[in-house]
Amino acid sequence: MERIPLIKPWIDQDDLDAVNQVLLSGQLVQGPNVAEFERIFADYVGTKYAIAGPNCTEALYLVLLALGIKSGDKVAVTTYSWPTTANVIELVGATPIFVDIEEKGFNMDPNKLEEAFKKYPEIKLVIPVHTFGGPCDMVSILEIVNRHGVQVLEDAACALGTSQNNIRAGAHGIAGCFSFHPRKAITTGEGSMTTTNDSNLAEKLIRLRNHGQEKPLPGSMWNEFVEPGHNYRMTDFQAALGLSQMKKLETIIDQRTALAKNYEDLFGGSDIQTPKALEGGFHVFQSYVLLLPPKVRGHRDRLIQEIRAQGIEVTLGTYHMPLLAYYREKYGFKSGDFPVSERVNDCALTIPLYGGMPEGAQERIVEKVIQKVSSA
Ligand SMILES: *Cc1c(COP(=O)(O)O)cnc(C)c1O
Repeated sequence: MERIPLIKPWIDQDDLDAVNQVLLSGQLVQGPNVAEFERIFADYVGTKYAIAGPNCTEALYLVLLALGIKSGDKVAVTTYSWPTTANVIELVGATPIFVDIEEKGFNMDPNKLEEAFKKYPEIKLVIPVHTFGGPCDMVSILEIVNRHGVQVLEDAACALGTSQNNIRAGAHGIAGCFSFHPRKAITTGEGSMTTTNDSNLAEKLIRLRNHGQEKPLPGSMWNEFVEPGHNYRMTDFQAALGLSQMKKLETIIDQRTALAKNYEDLFGGSDIQTPKALEGGFHVFQSYVLLLPPKVRGHRDRLIQEIRAQGIEVTLGTYHMPLLAYYREKYGFKSGDFPVSERVNDCALTIPLYGGMPEGAQERIVEKVIQKVSSA
């Protein structure tokens, strides 16, 4: 039987031609493609600025630096995400205040955020994640943070095209960071984009990603180096790939939502929770993550092995960060501290979803998953 991978990036001749053209031009960095990719991307998300970078981890890190988040600060963050989301807070010396998720969308629970502010009124910034491409309740989160006079940084790594009330992910908060890792909707290999409407922040990010340089002062030929900066630039051939990929984005999202709809029908009537967007929201299904019934707790990894043995690449959802070795040891978190996230962590299952899945693959996957779960 044909093996079904978890995901397959869509790379075609147009992408190859776009990259080749830049490679053969001799200008591999700081060429015109980065600027054009940024312009198209900002337009799509609906922000004034988009700033390309090397990957979403460094993009988030740079925003924290640019916002002046530092040692001693507290930053509220979701519990259930790729560990980057909390790691960047540690990397600037600040302390993550974990906020448990809600069980339907696996996103930061606004009620728990409110509780976190009661306990730690000094929280400086909030980082929600649009988990697996499903929108957070940004209306509720913004109401809370506005009342407390702080800002929101959206981890929109998986959320290109995601929206709530027709506002796209990355356009709600002070900034949003997107990833172009091959598991995300469009890819540049590694790569990222940070969106913002704030001109001061944009200026700072642009300076920090390019060695702390600014344009020459009047009468000088040379750039000013106004602060120690990083080299967090995107290469021009990656940007050419990104531009070429952006042309396919609507098709990619249409394919994914159609496949998700089909899964939804196929799982109908089972005791398995399928992903859905919150009301007024649009889900792009960057990953298609099921929540299996509580009885699979303690057996999920065995199910994964058994389903993989049938030639179907399935995997866990993402990570319950408070119980990862570093956070567990540093802060003494234990089982039961964030019960919703922990249950989701134990019972989530990601199943394959990509445009061009073989005929009958979804039926085969659903049949196998339901069979394994019912005999768990
Ligand atoms: C993929 C991902 C990241 C990291 O993106 P990279 O570009 O791989 O650094 C961060 N946050 C979330 C939620 C992700 O899914």
